[in-house]
Amino acid sequence: MKTKSALFAFALLFSVISAVSQHSDSDKILQTFHTISSHEILDYTAELCSEKYKGRLSGSPEYLEVARWCAAKFEEWEIQPANNGSYFQYFTNEFSEVKSLGEVVYSNGNSKTILQFPEDYLPGSNSANGTVAAELVYVGYGITAPELDYDDYAGVDVKGKIIILEPGVPYTKNDPVLAKWTPYAYHRYKFRNAVKHGAAGMIYASKIANPNTVNLDGFIYAHLDTKVVGQIFSDAGKDYNEIQKSLKNKETPSFVLPEKQTISITAETEYFPEARACNVLGLIEGSDPVLKEEVIIIGGHLDGQGQMGDVIFPGALDNASGISDILGAAKALAASEVKPKRSVLFILIGGEECGLYGSKYYCKNPLFPVEKTKMMINLDMVGNGTGFFVSGGKTHANLFKHFEEANNTYIHRAMSASEVRKNYGRPRSDASVFEDAGIKTFSLWTRESVHPVYYHHPMDKTNVLTPEIMEDAARLLYLGVLGVANDIAL
Ligand SMILES: [Zn+2]
Repeated sequence: MKTKSALFAFALLFSVISAVSQHSDSDKILQTFHTISSHEILDYTAELCSEKYKGRLSGSPEYLEVARWCAAKFEEWEIQPANNGSYFQYFTNEFSEVKSLGEVVYSNGNSKTILQFPEDYLPGSNSANGTVAAELVYVGYGITAPELDYDDYAGVDVKGKIIILEPGVPYTKNDPVLAKWTPYAYHRYKFRNAVKHGAAGMIYASKIANPNTVNLDGFIYAHLDTKVVGQIFSDAGKDYNEIQKSLKNKETPSFVLPEKQTISITAETEYFPEARACNVLGLIEGSDPVLKEEVIIIGGHLDGQGQMGDVIFPGALDNASGISDILGAAKALAASEVKPKRSVLFILIGGEECGLYGSKYYCKNPLFPVEKTKMMINLDMVGNGTGFFVSGGKTHANLFKHFEEANNTYIHRAMSASEVRKNYGRPRSDASVFEDAGIKTFSLWTRESVHPVYYHHPMDKTNVLTPEIMEDAARLLYLGVLGVANDIAL
């Protein structure tokens, strides 16, 4: 009896102790959780969007400077340099500096119109330097795909002309041959194909700043708003909407515009073919001697669209917001008294806007083996609105439940999830690069914004952000990642 009651007392004591320690663990976690503040997060955003970084164009000296600022934050919080003692992982990243807004002038034969920035046109991020003036040829998607029996250049001579070209490819999401069109979805392909056909210059019927193009010797181009393209078409007696419909039907509605219609494009740029950029990598080593070999990656792209002349593209939502949320969570995870058992790797990705350079480079040169990488969560445009959306949450439910529980228990935002979204055409996000490399990946977004979304536009400024959702995004990251890091059942 004596032994039995002693045993009972011991068991009771043990369960009380473990209950107390469990209780204090969640207390400790909540304490850290509440230190995550929108004030600090918005300070990070203000820094990232400040003029000195000139819009964080990957490859530029200012990008390297903002990368150093982020690394200094990691250092301040005792987050370790993850790449053999360095916070940086470098890769080549050619870029062009757009030195002025240049000029685009359209003539319909009777009158000339000097187009306005940014309402009517944006300079080409990788345009060659100089002026081109010529007559116009419309070439639809600008694709030559003999194996698909498709040629936008058939029947039109573009030699010495300025072509008008559309982004995208003529398929729908459910097209069974979608994958065959993928090589033709890249802007670079379209540019090279245009030059191959002898085009002297180009109007891209897609008005966004886009460094994900290519600098080709002497090839000058600009982006035009589709309403201006519509006007040019109506001056030629064509209906742009009808043309759009026939494009979708794969009818290759290319045509030569009347001779009297001309465009002149002036671009002032300098090309830096040997430039380089980097990912910024910080590590919190896991506290468990075995589980620390496994890693959870938190990533988002640090680069933006840069500056054109004196006009900065601050990229506040895209993607200073995601980086600021990550920094908010990183500081908390580093300070957390409850340590992650698995390691946590932060990757602030370079070259996303130029063509997913940084994520591709990391996935080719990973710091942890793919099979030891438990998950990656990517944040791109996580800065306004009232709710969360997690792509991949339904595919990887055993990981997602930690984020869902965190939200349901402490954050109480509307949160929905989907299966992993397969690439529609070319891979368009860092998340898709990690997913394609065999890593379970989530994409976190915010939704239901009351602010307009100024995508790749100078108006993407800090005033379009919602501080409260950014604070909650950082808190969700802190709790969700800690949950996954410490889930020994995984
Ligand atoms: Zn982005």
